Amino acid sequence: KKHRISNKKIKEEDGEDDISVIKPVTEHEKILAGRKKLPVFPYREEFLAAVKDHQVLVLVGETGSGKTTQIPQYLYEIGYAELGKIGCTQPRRVAAMSVAARVAQEMNVRLGKEVGYSIRFENCTSEATKIQYMTDGMLLREILTEPDLASYSCMIIDEAHERTLHSDILFGLVKDIVRFRSDLKLIISSATMDAEKFSKYFDDASIFMIPGRMFPVDIYYTKSPEADYVDAAVVTVLQIHVSQPLNGDILVFLTGQEEIETATEILTQRTRNLGSRIPELMICPVYANLPSEQQAKIFEKTPKGARKVVLATNIAETSLTIDGICYVIDTGFNKQKSYNARSGMESLVVTPVSQAAANQRAGRAGRTQPGKCFRLFTAWSFQHELEPNTVPEILRTNLGNVVLMLKSLGINDLVHFDFMDKPPSDALIRALEQLYALGALNDLGELTKLGRRMAEFPLEPMLSKSVIASEKFECVSEVLSTVSMLSLGASVFYRPKEKAIMADTARMNFARGGGGDHISLLRCYSEWVATDYSNAWCFENFVQVRSIRRARDIREQLESLCERVEVDHLVSKPDDNDAVLKAITSGFFYNVAKLGRTGDYQTVKQQRTVYIHPSSVLAKEEQPPPWLVYFELAFTTKEFMRQVAPIDPSWLVEIAPHYYQPSDVEDSKNKKMPKQRKMR
Ligand code: ADP
Ligand code: MG
Repeated sequence: KKHRISNKKIKEEDGEDDISVIKPVTEHEKILAGRKKLPVFPYREEFLAAVKDHQVLVLVGETGSGKTTQIPQYLYEIGYAELGKIGCTQPRRVAAMSVAARVAQEMNVRLGKEVGYSIRFENCTSEATKIQYMTDGMLLREILTEPDLASYSCMIIDEAHERTLHSDILFGLVKDIVRFRSDLKLIISSATMDAEKFSKYFDDASIFMIPGRMFPVDIYYTKSPEADYVDAAVVTVLQIHVSQPLNGDILVFLTGQEEIETATEILTQRTRNLGSRIPELMICPVYANLPSEQQAKIFEKTPKGARKVVLATNIAETSLTIDGICYVIDTGFNKQKSYNARSGMESLVVTPVSQAAANQRAGRAGRTQPGKCFRLFTAWSFQHELEPNTVPEILRTNLGNVVLMLKSLGINDLVHFDFMDKPPSDALIRALEQLYALGALNDLGELTKLGRRMAEFPLEPMLSKSVIASEKFECVSEVLSTVSMLSLGASVFYRPKEKAIMADTARMNFARGGGGDHISLLRCYSEWVATDYSNAWCFENFVQVRSIRRARDIREQLESLCERVEVDHLVSKPDDNDAVLKAITSGFFYNVAKLGRTGDYQTVKQQRTVYIHPSSVLAKEEQPPPWLVYFELAFTTKEFMRQVAPIDPSWLVEIAPHYYQPSDVEDSKNKKMPKQRKMR
């Protein structure tokens, strides 16, 4: 009995009763009432006083406490926007867009007016913009043109605990900027972890804590390791759905778009088979390239009598808060970049998460009521196999892009740059070597004219080099289309299971005429343009309309950047595949593999065995090309090359004579190989 009374009391304190007395009428009033219920709200005045007293503040609060959506509004409400914009960075584009949309809604303004966002290839801000959300990469770009951030009065580096490469570089830069801009307020905002470390790095900055409201979460492990975690996740979703009370949604952590699409498909099928025997299940995928119309769906209220299941990448770990989640299913994996500085190989690898990340994920279940977390790995594995903390990206990535950016900011001495965690020196050296090989740096390590032009593009150095090289091969227009398609980050083709054969045929049609994946992408784009951007053509050819439209947006941006560096984007050489592939090779001569006698490919310089990704148009080729250039490596079951095109090895000596000797590219068939001794 006593227990019930105390329960009721909590309810009253929660403000439930106030709300029912003064019932909000309009949708907007409901939103305003919701703002006042967030954990950060009672600390509004205290927080604003702290900002007034300190130039740099470390802000810590559990995910969902209101840091991202409320803090910029608080600063706006007391007039900081009159002194300059209020900026807030996010590690992911989806988060930047979705949070900006939410805040615009809370402030009752049109997105892009007072509240806007800017992400790579998409600027949704205007003269009127006062609160600007952006990716951390975009802020880095802004610093290139505005080194003192003069147009800002406050800058919030949000999700600092994620320690993305761009955030880590930003820390070093903004730490310097606040020294000569005493009027700039800097807030480093993070979900619980590592607050002390941030404080220490920013010269013992004060820490402002928002006490969390967390409910207990019971954690369950599997008894033995799961062979197929996607399937295990689907089974667990259905088990929860049929056995647990309906008022609690499910959040599943998977590693990427492909897995999420597979899981969505299986779940749809199985629930369809079960029909009306189970309550409705609303399936919502979330990943980085999800179009914005679909993003809104994850925040929709679950209809009565139904349950929502959100299938997400680690974007839902801390960047996005979805209300109503009570069950978390954690596969224990995410996709991480990994870089071997010695070999210069970078690849995306499905990696076990850290203990800290697993605990964050579990925490998502206990935001509004006690929850349950199902870990699809064993307790032993959690304790003995998972690292305590996620390794910051700067320690496991190719630094080419940021080194180029820092160099163009005039920061030449990278060894003494104030990194929070210093990247390994062989990774730094490797990046310098690579930029030197691309011609972006001279032998004194200074930026060349080419390097300066490359730095204008928000692309990896290899891609920007290809764009600039296309001028020489007189195929700028074609290379821009190819690079835009390559930059999508996900496949432009879709392949529904029930129409897989038709989809494959459509895709292979683009491959006809040779030139591998790069030229197929180019043909696809050009045909679409020739049909006057026809949607019907996309449906017929199994091309995702929204992806190819995005390619067009990217291309338009690259065109205007070309103008800035005086590359004529109209220069075109239709149907000369070799010219296009030579321009690509000018950027990607590092990424070349050669067919060995065993039928496997080996990278030319490091002699690593690699395979053509099954999604490539060259995957089923009866006579695989002897030499390939590849766009990237992805390690899943094997080391796969994604997006490959055949090249003529003689180009390598022509294009990159400083990197390839004629002996490197001699045809293996002509070379006598020593007889292999039979072991046994
Ligand atoms: P934090 O940054 O501390 O993790 P947020 O400011 O992101 O917290 O979230 C505060 C609240 O705003 C959460 O309850 C969340 O559900 C809500 N919210 C955030 N984005 C959206 C959105 N796009 N639609 C609806 N609600 C949202
Ligand atoms: Mg946040």
